[in-house]
Amino acid sequence: MPDLTETVATVLDIYQRHIEARPLERHCEMRTQCCRFRLTGKTPMVTMGEAITAAAGWRAAGRKSIPDGQQSDGACPFLGSDGRCNNYKHRPLGCRTHFCDPAGGPYPRQHVIEAIRELEHLDEALGGDGPRPLPAATRDVWKLVTSNNRRR
Ligand code: SF4
Repeated sequence: MPDLTETVATVLDIYQRHIEARPLERHCEMRTQCCRFRLTGKTPMVTMGEAITAAAGWRAAGRKSIPDGQQSDGACPFLGSDGRCNNYKHRPLGCRTHFCDPAGGPYPRQHVIEAIRELEHLDEALGGDGPRPLPAATRDVWKLVTSNNRRR
């Protein structure tokens, strides 16, 4: 079983070094279409470390479960009713780098490739199956995250 605290710290460090420390100019207007996957036809794909990090952040905020996401627009389970991300600090790489065209467009691949590589290496070390859709991946690790919390 992975050490969850260490996994979350490693993932947040990857985001920090490769993305947050070297941001590109973008102008997000909070349209939040990118968080409504049926509208865009695109669902963020996450590695196991990212899923654990998102689930752990959700849990740390006192949440008891991850919503099942039955909304007609396919809204992300972490999207608040006010249109804001309720799991912002722990959101995955794709949410940090994939901007819609009006906001300036997605980060170019060469800007994110090192972060992708490190997240894939961590995925292998954790026994993951590679990137998976965000809602299913986070729900699958929820039990792991909550049982780990109970033992502390
Ligand atoms: S994690 Fe946050 S930013 Fe990413 S899709 Fe969900 S609500 Fe949007």
